[in-house]
Amino acid sequence: MALVPPHGGKGLVCCLLQGAELAAEQKKAEGLKKIDISPRAKGDLIMMGIGGFSPLNGFMSKADWKSVCENFTLADGTFWPVPVTLDMDEEVKVGEEIALFDPKKGVFMATMKVTEVYEMTEADKKWECEKVYKGQGEESADDKFWEIAPKDHPGVQMVMAQKKYNVAGPVKVLSEGDYRDRFPGCYMSPAEARATFEEKGWSKVAALQLRNPMHRSHEFLAKIAVEVCDGVFIHSLVGNLKPGDIPAEVRIKCIDTLIDKYFVKANVVQGGYPLDMRYAGPREGLLHATFRQNYGVSDMLIGRDHAGVGDFYGLFEAQEIFDRVPKNLGAGKDLITQPMKIDWTFYCYKCDGMASLRTCPHGKEDRVVLSGTKLRKALSEGAPVADHFGRDEVLDILREYYSSLTEKVEIKMQSHAAATKM
Ligand SMILES: [Zn+2]
Repeated sequence: MALVPPHGGKGLVCCLLQGAELAAEQKKAEGLKKIDISPRAKGDLIMMGIGGFSPLNGFMSKADWKSVCENFTLADGTFWPVPVTLDMDEEVKVGEEIALFDPKKGVFMATMKVTEVYEMTEADKKWECEKVYKGQGEESADDKFWEIAPKDHPGVQMVMAQKKYNVAGPVKVLSEGDYRDRFPGCYMSPAEARATFEEKGWSKVAALQLRNPMHRSHEFLAKIAVEVCDGVFIHSLVGNLKPGDIPAEVRIKCIDTLIDKYFVKANVVQGGYPLDMRYAGPREGLLHATFRQNYGVSDMLIGRDHAGVGDFYGLFEAQEIFDRVPKNLGAGKDLITQPMKIDWTFYCYKCDGMASLRTCPHGKEDRVVLSGTKLRKALSEGAPVADHFGRDEVLDILREYYSSLTEKVEIKMQSHAAATKM
């Protein structure tokens, strides 16, 4: 048995240059028109660099953008769930080569050969939001979407704030950012993850996506996966979150501690990936599965409110969307990685252990359920946290983090906490 193949049928498509080629292109970049890019575009470029976004080798054309929004496929029919586009105000010409620059770090991230420039009107942006960010079904906020999304939905805000043009074309990536230095042994490319899994003899690999600290419910999800797969890949977002969310360094320390004390080490691998949150809700769940396929993951854990944003989506919409996406698209074009759908999990006093809505017949009053907001409040005030919600070792790390925060950060954090979920 082998690992799942990379998505798109072309192997890992890696746009990151190496050695002499890299040095030459970096020199060339200095002479090209310099365009500042957003943190989101930076993450997208790194993913294209390391093969995480295979088969993408650049930013999407209008035909790809439109087809992704409408049909969940690139224009050539390959499955892809969210637009990967590059916006700018600068006038650039088709055929021109440009240099994409990270203004925060002062680093050239890529060069790009422009193949298309298309205007994004307000109506186009709104259409993208309707197609990609709006939930479906009774539990979602679909009927009052435009009333609340512009002020409360970070994904919609990002799209609506995009610049005048989208610019498409293939890229040559010049940098992986500072992730390798910041997260040694944790940040890994798809090729490195695949090599790690192969060395362990794994072929059926589950991934647990995390952007918040890992508590008992997440530990339980990971362990369910270990029972039915060869192993679990605990894969954290190490790109940018909203202000007030827990930094990746702290979350990774929590996971290290959990693996050390509560897992059989042979059956778990921890990794980090360089994307920012897009806040695309259920579609983001699909993106998590799509790029995980490139990392060699066959089964993507999708729990309650996966990639949720406030109350915009139904609690299980990110599971249901996997049933709605197009299938039988042709060789290499389908999403192979499947969702491992798990119901809401918690500790139950009557069950005397971790359980889910599928296994626990008891009532609300018997279960340990804590909102993110309440947890943050307890940790930042040094108050006790409900028994069995988190492991003591993890809660200690979080308390230490909160006590290191200044008052100013704390206030900011509280105001953002309401919209934050797993
Ligand atoms: Zn129970």
